Amino acid sequence: MKKNNKTTKKLLSSLLKSKNCMSCKSCCKFGENDCFDAPMFTEGEKENILKKFNNAKFKKIGKLWKVVIVRGPNKHTFRYICPFYNDKEYKCMVYDIRPFDCSTWPFYIMKLHDKVIITLSKDCPVILNNKLDFLLEFTEKIVAPYMIKYALKYPDLITPYRNKAVILLDVTDKLKS
Ligand code: SF4
Repeated sequence: MKKNNKTTKKLLSSLLKSKNCMSCKSCCKFGENDCFDAPMFTEGEKENILKKFNNAKFKKIGKLWKVVIVRGPNKHTFRYICPFYNDKEYKCMVYDIRPFDCSTWPFYIMKLHDKVIITLSKDCPVILNNKLDFLLEFTEKIVAPYMIKYALKYPDLITPYRNKAVILLDVTDKLKS
């Protein structure tokens, strides 16, 4: 399973390369109204991170931990920032051990009424630049199986539908096992 997860992470990274993120510079920061979007960590992911950043703070949500984001530098007025984000080099300081929640960005698994759906944030111009057909196929073959596996173990990863995210795939039936 670990090997499959690594392959999936690689495929996701090939779609959204770190050089894209470094030039965009808008990820990992949060406005007053989207602090709930701060990444969630499994117990194992949190413990791994704490070996590097032992003063990081987390808040328990179900079986998961949400990192406590901090007030960003003045240039990001009204913005909060992930404590693992290097604001000078515009990169994640824990990239190799970033949590599932970050490795699947900008895809989400969400609940809308009685459905569980895979969605795509409208905040990532790089991914949105792909053709819809390609995104649908990539979601079905790569993103959905990975997310479903995690969501079955950590249902708190399924968050309420928000921000007019693009709805890509209904996976309700896959979560009924
Ligand atoms: S853990 Fe890394 S990728 Fe995730 S929000 Fe923080 S800085 Fe960004």
